[in-house]
Amino acid sequence: MFRVAQPDADRRYLGAAIEGRRPMRPRSAPAMTVLVLGGTSEARTLAAQLDGRPGLRVVSSLAGRVSNPVLPAGEIRVGGFGGAAGLAAWARAEGVDAVVDATHPFAETISAHAVEACALAGVPLLRLARPGWSPRDGDDWHDAGSLDEAAAMLPRLGTRVFLTTGRQGLAAFAALDRLWFLIRCVDPPGGPMPASCEVLLARGPYERESERALMRGHGIDVLVTKNSGGPLTAGKLDAARDLGLPVVMVARPAAAAAAESVTAVSDALRWVESHMLASERAARPGG
Ligand code: NAP
Repeated sequence: MFRVAQPDADRRYLGAAIEGRRPMRPRSAPAMTVLVLGGTSEARTLAAQLDGRPGLRVVSSLAGRVSNPVLPAGEIRVGGFGGAAGLAAWARAEGVDAVVDATHPFAETISAHAVEACALAGVPLLRLARPGWSPRDGDDWHDAGSLDEAAAMLPRLGTRVFLTTGRQGLAAFAALDRLWFLIRCVDPPGGPMPASCEVLLARGPYERESERALMRGHGIDVLVTKNSGGPLTAGKLDAARDLGLPVVMVARPAAAAAAESVTAVSDALRWVESHMLASERAARPGG
């Protein structure tokens, strides 16, 4: 089943392309409903592996920020819930039995809301977050605690910056008018941003060789990235090492404390399966 439930504010981001793309599936009463908070490749992999399992209803939730998102398999809802209380109310209304927070490691607000909402609704929560990147031999990393800290470091590290931190938060770099930026993001940025720049709209994954060619071609002398982790965008780190370039690595925000957390999709899958077994047992007569 494919449904879109999104507030008007988010509707503009998604476009009609999503609606109606999936045929309706007949819905028999599921033994268990799982909400996957998504927007990552891990969330999509998990949804694909759970979708279609007998007795299981899987709903993936997207923020609706990207104009043409890669859609997960199965049922999807789009747009904010209206804070932690809204998420708790949604979970109760939809009979959610378990939540997997598989959002991006830098999406700290929704993760905090998931912790609060699941406590309010009495629903078990699992945090699925890929491990961060660690420096390797030959890397020249400069750790920053925030985008503002990253911006403050840049003038002593280079003059031609490859900025890959996404379209949100570009204001932190807007005052650096002596530096030139190659800004890569999925959708066009808005709001304050560096005056001297080129915007490259692209979506990963990115390979080491093409990243190296891109950096060479633009005369890049410093890379800025969030420590997102995962293999799909790690090519820029290999390329920076190959070219001997410094990397400003923005650390992850402090994670909201979900009681249970895993880093691999296979472990999240096992967690859902164990909850399915428990709810099947509970549904048996005398269970
Ligand atoms: P955020 O700051 O943590 O969340 C802001 C608000 O957006 C939340 O309070 C919530 O609104 C809504 N929201 C976020 N994720 C949602 C989801 N999966 N389903 C429904 N509502 C959601 O999030 P963000 O950093 O802007 O990221 C937005 C989405 O993009 C996330 O789902 C994340 O997985 C994905 N993403 C983020 C990054 C990044 O660098 N931050 C990178 C790649 C992908 P309400 O309070 O109204 O519920």
